[in-house]
Amino acid sequence: MTDKSPLPPDSPALRDESRLSGWAEGLGSPADRRAASELIGQSLAKGIPMTFQGARTGLRGAGVPNGGLIVGAARLDRVEGLRRGQWGFELLVQPGYRLADLRRDLATRRPNLAASQAEPEALKELLAEFRAEELFWPPDPSETSATMGGLASTNASGPNRSRFGRAADHLSGLRVILHDGQEYNLERGAFKFGPQGLPLPTGRLLEADPKALGLPPEADLLDLLAGGQGMYGFISGLWLKLAKAPAHLWGLVFFPDSEEKAVSLIEAILDDPPEALISLDFLDLPSLSVVSVLRQSAKKLREIPEPPTGAASAVSLELMADDESLIESASERIIQNCLDRGCDPDQSWALVGTEVEKSRLFAHAVPEGLGSLLDSVRAGGYPAVMTATDFTRPDLRFGQNLGECRRDLREMGLTAVTFGHALDNHLSVNFLPKNAEEAKRATELMGHWLERAKNAGGELFFGQGVGKLKKELFLAHESPERIASLRAAKKALDPNGLFNPGNLFD
Ligand SMILES: Cc1cc2nc3c(=O)[nH]c(=O)nc-3n(C[C@H](O)[C@H](O)[C@H](O)COP(=O)(O)OP(=O)(O)OC[C@H]3O[C@@H](n4cnc5c(N)ncnc54)[C@H](O)[C@@H]3O)c2cc1C
Repeated sequence: MTDKSPLPPDSPALRDESRLSGWAEGLGSPADRRAASELIGQSLAKGIPMTFQGARTGLRGAGVPNGGLIVGAARLDRVEGLRRGQWGFELLVQPGYRLADLRRDLATRRPNLAASQAEPEALKELLAEFRAEELFWPPDPSETSATMGGLASTNASGPNRSRFGRAADHLSGLRVILHDGQEYNLERGAFKFGPQGLPLPTGRLLEADPKALGLPPEADLLDLLAGGQGMYGFISGLWLKLAKAPAHLWGLVFFPDSEEKAVSLIEAILDDPPEALISLDFLDLPSLSVVSVLRQSAKKLREIPEPPTGAASAVSLELMADDESLIESASERIIQNCLDRGCDPDQSWALVGTEVEKSRLFAHAVPEGLGSLLDSVRAGGYPAVMTATDFTRPDLRFGQNLGECRRDLREMGLTAVTFGHALDNHLSVNFLPKNAEEAKRATELMGHWLERAKNAGGELFFGQGVGKLKKELFLAHESPERIASLRAAKKALDPNGLFNPGNLFD
C-alpha cells in the first residue's frame, strides 16, 4: 500500500476496523440500484479497479482499497420485498441495510416496504401474516453496524455458529453485478456444481469442485459468492431467510476465579452438551481487562454490571428452546457443574429474553476494546494492525488447545488477549504488537499454529477470512489445492482482476 492517494489520507474510507489503510482515486456512493449499476458498468468498461465497502467494520482489511475506485454501499439501505418462500418468510434487502436495521424491523415487525414492487393488496395480506410471527435471522455476528452486503461477503457468523451456521446458510437468493456489467438474480440452487464444475450465469464454467474451494458438497454459486470478500462481484440485493424465534432464550455468565476452573467448566459442558445450548464462549483475564478499560469511555457498557472482584475469566453461554423445561434442566446441570468446580454461581449473571443483550454487549466489548488499544499503540508511533488467529483444532480438547497456545506464547515471549467459541474449539488469540519485531514473532507463531491446525484437519481462516492482512499467511499455509481452486474462481468470475484487487491474491 502507498500513500499516493488522491482521497485525503485521513479519509475514513481508506481504512477499516483492522486499522490497515490503503489508497484510492475516488469514492462513489450510489443512492439507488440504477446508479450502482451505472457506476460499476462504467468502471468495468474503463478498466478501473473497484473496492466494495459496507460499514468498514471488517477485521482483515478486505474492504480497504488498493487503488482505483471505492464503491460504498451505505446508501443502498432499503427493504425491497417480502415473500413467503419454501423456507418461510424472506426479506429482500439492499446491501447497505445494516444488521441493526434488521433487528429493529423484526422487533417492531414493521419493515419499510415502500420500495417493494409487490401489489399493495397482496403485500397487505402478507404483512399481516408476517406481523403475527416472531422471527429472527439466526446468524448472530455481534457487530450490528455491519451491512448485509459485508456480512454476506465475509460469510459472517457469531458465537452460535455451530448451531445455526453462517450468513450464507441463511440466504435464499442474491442479486449480483458480475464482470460483464450485468445484474443477475440468483436463486438458491439455480447454479449448482456438476461433474465438470460450476456453470456461471455469464456462460463461463468454473472448473473446480466444492471441496477444494472449502465448500460443502451441496454448495451452489450463492455459497461461493458469500464469503468472496467482494472479489467476485458486487452484491446489490439479498434475500434473507427468516426463522421462527424459539419461545425462550436464557443467558448465563460465570466468572471463575481461575482459568483452570473456567476450562474445567467448559469441558464438563462440552462432554454432555445440553440440547438447548447454542453458544459457549470463553474470555480470559486480559479480555476482562480490555472490557474494564473500555467501560470508562463507553456509556452503554456502564449499564451492565461489573464482573465480580476476583474474576479471572468468564464463561458465557446461551440456551434457546421452545420448551422452557429444557432450558431449566440444562441450567440446573450447568450450575451444578459450576458448584462442583468451586465456582460461585451467586457471582454469575442469569439473563432472560431481551436481557441476554447484556451478555452479548459484554462479549462484544472485547473486540471493540481491542480496536481502542490498537489505536493507543499507533499513537505511540508503531502502525499496529489487527493481528489475531482464527483456526480450529478438532484434535484437541478445549483446555489442550488453550494450553498449547499459552505455552507457545510464553516460549516466544509474547502476550495476547484470548477469547473464543468453545463449541467450535476456536480461539481468537489477539496480539498487540508494539513494534515490528513483536509483530514478526506473532506472525511466525501464527504460521506454526496454522501448520498444526492444517495437519489436524482444522479450518484455517475460520472466523474473519483472509482479506489483505492474512494474505501472506494464506499463501504460505493454505493447501496448494485450495489456493489453485480459489485462483480459478477469481479468474472465472473476475477475468480482468477489477473487483477488490489485493484480497487473497496480488
Ligand atoms: C467489535 C467487532 C466485533 C465483530 N464481531 C464479529 C462477529 O462476531 N462475527 C463476524 O463474522 N464478524 C465480526 N466482526 C467483523 C465485521 O463486523 C464483519 O466482517 C462484517 O461482515 C463486515 O461488514 P461491513 O459492512 O462492515 O463490511 P466491510 O468491512 O465494509 O467489508 C467487508 C468485506 O465485504 C465486502 N463487501 C461489502 N459490501 C459488499 C457488497 N455489496 N458487494 C460485495 N462485496 C461487499 C468488502 O469488499 C470486504 O471485502 C466484528 C467487527 C468488530 C469491529
